[in-house]
Amino acid sequence: MSASDPLVEVRDLEMHFPLTRGVIFQRQYGAVRAVDGVSFSVARGETFGIVGESGCGKSTTGRLIMRLLEPTAGQVFFEGQEITNLDRRQLATLRRDAQMVFQDPYSSLNPRKTVGSIIAEPFIIHREAREANERRKEVRELMDRVGLNPEHYNRYPHQFSGGQRQRIGVARAIALKPKLLVADEPVSALDVSIQAQIINLLQDLQSELGLTLIFIAHDLSVVRHMCDRIAVMYLGKVVELAESERCFSQPRHPYTGALLASVPVPDPSISAAGRRPVLKGDVPSPSAPPPGCRFHTRCPKAQSLCSQEEPPLTEMPGGSLAACHFPLEGYSSSS
Ligand code: SF4
Repeated sequence: MSASDPLVEVRDLEMHFPLTRGVIFQRQYGAVRAVDGVSFSVARGETFGIVGESGCGKSTTGRLIMRLLEPTAGQVFFEGQEITNLDRRQLATLRRDAQMVFQDPYSSLNPRKTVGSIIAEPFIIHREAREANERRKEVRELMDRVGLNPEHYNRYPHQFSGGQRQRIGVARAIALKPKLLVADEPVSALDVSIQAQIINLLQDLQSELGLTLIFIAHDLSVVRHMCDRIAVMYLGKVVELAESERCFSQPRHPYTGALLASVPVPDPSISAAGRRPVLKGDVPSPSAPPPGCRFHTRCPKAQSLCSQEEPPLTEMPGGSLAACHFPLEGYSSSS
């Protein structure tokens, strides 16, 4: 495997959660199609954003990449090796090399453990041979690295603020120097003033440790300046995949354009909504996605073809991929 090969590759990934009826004899009557034929690859050292509204399948995709879920169909490759059929020993290696930071720093930390023992968990789980003193020293260094006071080693999670708790989660995630970090909405539970600090921390760690970062967010503005490329998901599918700046300056899919319209603009005289279609209505149920283009029930550009034929993900002029029969053209970003 060469350095130019992708670290992560996802091919036709599907995750359909069965819907069942009955208490004793459960019968399946449908499925929630959380992820429905998703393909992309992530290069080593890249920051790859996955963006979309709640229920679009972005977090499920992250969990499938971590193999916290078994996909219904499709494949995930990590360093060229398919991870959907790993044995226990191989899975343990993957768990070292790929770590996750969760959305809710309040519930992802054991309230009865000290911060020092929480951050030391990966050393113990993965049987990293270390004397207690050495482990304590390493944990203190990790605390310092993520901006926590090492003197607070013996404190409990409730004694920290939300941003500090997320730093604890980050310290635990990088303890074993993983190759991949999947950050699932790591800032959406935090105050806006704290969000930038955590994003800066992740960016600093990425360049220091040479990490590959998959950053999952519902807000496009969060990923704009940190991601190299962005995949926009809607109802279990990738509808646009583009380099970050192109995604903002020249969105091709009307859903991406509408998401951009909902990004707050600092100067009220620059009305983004005046030039862009604003997203209306709710996301349809992933258990009964609309036929044809799944976005047609909310799309301001929809025509009759859109409800009949599903558009494939196609390369657009400029290099973006978009799944749309009537993509946006000559679009320019104001933000
Ligand atoms: Fe809108 Fe039609 Fe494009 Fe779907 S295919 S995004 S409904 S224009």
